[in-house]
Amino acid sequence: MQFKTIIEPFRIKSVEPIGLSTEEERVHYLKEAHYNPFLLRSKDVIIDFMTDSGTSAMSAHQWAGIMEGDEAYAGSRSWLRMENEVQDLTGMQHVLPTHQGRAGERIVYGHLGGPGKVFISNTHFDTTRANIEFSGATAIDIPIKENEDTALLHPFKGNMDTAELERLLKEHEGRMGAVILTVTNNSGGGQPVSMANAKEVSAICKRHGVLLMLDCCRVAENSWFVKHREEGMEKLSYREIAQRMFALADGAVMSAKKDAFANIGGFIAFRDGALAEACTNLLIITEGFSTYGGLAGRDMEAIAIGLEEVFDPHYLEYRIKSTAFLGDALNKMGVPLMLPIGGHAVYIDAKKLYPHIPPAQYPGQALVCELFRIGGIRSVEIGSVMFGTYAEDGSLKPARMELVRLAIPRRVYTQSHIEYVAEAFGEVMRHREQVKGLRIMKEPKFLRHFTAHFETL
Ligand SMILES: *Cc1c(COP(=O)(O)O)cnc(C)c1O
Repeated sequence: MQFKTIIEPFRIKSVEPIGLSTEEERVHYLKEAHYNPFLLRSKDVIIDFMTDSGTSAMSAHQWAGIMEGDEAYAGSRSWLRMENEVQDLTGMQHVLPTHQGRAGERIVYGHLGGPGKVFISNTHFDTTRANIEFSGATAIDIPIKENEDTALLHPFKGNMDTAELERLLKEHEGRMGAVILTVTNNSGGGQPVSMANAKEVSAICKRHGVLLMLDCCRVAENSWFVKHREEGMEKLSYREIAQRMFALADGAVMSAKKDAFANIGGFIAFRDGALAEACTNLLIITEGFSTYGGLAGRDMEAIAIGLEEVFDPHYLEYRIKSTAFLGDALNKMGVPLMLPIGGHAVYIDAKKLYPHIPPAQYPGQALVCELFRIGGIRSVEIGSVMFGTYAEDGSLKPARMELVRLAIPRRVYTQSHIEYVAEAFGEVMRHREQVKGLRIMKEPKFLRHFTAHFETL
């Protein structure tokens, strides 16, 4: 018999209580947090869909590994285990540990970047873009055209526009820092990248002599989509698919807080020894010695184990299907979504949900506040708060899309938590015409979404 119910392929061994609150309390919390969910206290959040980063539940096996962590400054056994695991997965010889993804980005893109340099990606993640721009370089996003139409169904909406890549590589010849393929495409809607697209991008980069980096935070989730949606891939294991994708790149940066189920950590991997050496020098100055890079031995142990666990077919099946379970429930209610549903998150198209709120009044941020008020659900705006810039005259140059992301922590919430969130959306839909936008009262120069203060209009 084929069961329709996708069960969580694990039992819960240790629990963390959720603090429940009233709507009145939450209205107060929101005001105190200046309508910015990053300024809320987690104890006041009921369902935390802010991020899937560092929020995974570790397995009993990983916790056992934590006890086995070797905290030696140099040549730690836990480092050798992690290095071995990353080498086997990526096929890249040179591996550098970092305390999280952006530490690797700062080192690699700081080294390859600088004023006048250009980086091209299917979509740069916010920290990737910030590190590139902080070095003085330019970051250009070229997702395929289909990515922009949120309702359009396409099996690999995270793909890079390869015709545009060819054109840009000619235009910026001699100025290229690197091409970065983000799998899955997080800021572009958590959408997967096909093996065929990765192959094409790789061939173009080789032809132009440009370095290809894989931002591989969710490479296992991407492999699920490749296996189930791409012809000729169905017989390969998820791990083999990931290995084939790595084989197309010159280097990789990973935040282990995603598909490695770790609460902290990351790595850089390279084929080229000279590049690895330059980055190792930067690593030692700012992160730590090359055999721990800002991580404790126990973290490296947890990462090594997580990188094996994530390719378990039962886990990946549950992971992708349970994300789709939330997406399908919202879709049925008429909530405008980024379709098809991606791997780690459900993205709501706030521009369509609140057509009466212009981008300069941040419709995504308005939805984020509504979700918290109604259900204590914390989400994140991925729109003009995160990516908007200002024109010379001070007016807002909006982002390409106004999305809100419900990122689902791995192995943390059960089906009833998800059903509660769907119920809250019923209320969101009933109120959609009354909701008002916001204005920014205070903001920093980089990554303003983290600390900006808002006021309701
Ligand atoms: C999370 C993430 C990063 C940055 O990693 P951190 O560990 O948060 O510093 C980079 N790229 C992508 C695609 C990510 O999802």
